[in-house]
Amino acid sequence: MLSIQGVHKRFGEHPVLRGIDLDVARHEVVALIGASGSGKSTLLKTVNLLEQIDDGRIVLAGDDISDPRVNVDAVRARIGVVFQHYNLFPHMHVLGNVTLAARQVFRTPRAQAERTGLALLERIGLADKAYEYPDRLSGGQQQRVAIARALATDPELLLLDEITSALDPQLVGEVLDLVRELKAGGSTIVMATHEMSFARRVADRVVYLKDGVIIESGTPEQIFERPQRAETREFLRRLR
Ligand code: ADP
Ligand code: MG
Repeated sequence: MLSIQGVHKRFGEHPVLRGIDLDVARHEVVALIGASGSGKSTLLKTVNLLEQIDDGRIVLAGDDISDPRVNVDAVRARIGVVFQHYNLFPHMHVLGNVTLAARQVFRTPRAQAERTGLALLERIGLADKAYEYPDRLSGGQQQRVAIARALATDPELLLLDEITSALDPQLVGEVLDLVRELKAGGSTIVMATHEMSFARRVADRVVYLKDGVIIESGTPEQIFERPQRAETREFLRRLR
């Protein structure tokens, strides 16, 4: 589904991604772990074309999306993104937020977009909040709405960037449960996370990033129980 090949990214003189190679299969859930500043968000942003790469190639379902001639909006329409801070539009009710992309990007008629949106809200257990405004929802509910919004256009790939890190601990579970359901439903997901327990339980593969380099990647069992590299062991030890 996604193939990241030899990707380099610099900010000025500062190399942030230094030759990233990563392939993600359809229906696979990949967790990116690594210290703050290791390049996780930048890597997700290069896939969503929010950051331009300096070298390498990114291929989405066979299409080279790093080609400068690519239609950026068309690529972004194929990828659902959720960031740490649930950026819901405060002046729009929940259903309006969820249907916005379908209506504006895909020109889906309102009635149809709303039917799809309500079905999604039903699925995430927030159908009764469809006409509430975001500030009337808890952080966990807002983040679930942000996920529903990302799903509304039926994306081929979901990018989740630390989606629980701004939440109170008691709200984390409901968001993680939703991601687990998406996985069960066959979504292809790349997520940056600092929740190791979550990476362990949900990811098919865990990728440890350090200073813009993939140090090690493997099943959660391999990475968390039998890390091969000293850097990985050191990173995990510091978390304990
Ligand atoms: P992570 O998500 O793993 O914490 P980031 O991808 O956010 O890491 O950041 C990696 C490095 O790139 C950091 O040193 C950060 O300061 C730097 N960086 C990120 N975005 C920018 C930017 N727009 N301009 C300059 N430096 C940036
Ligand atoms: Mg980040």
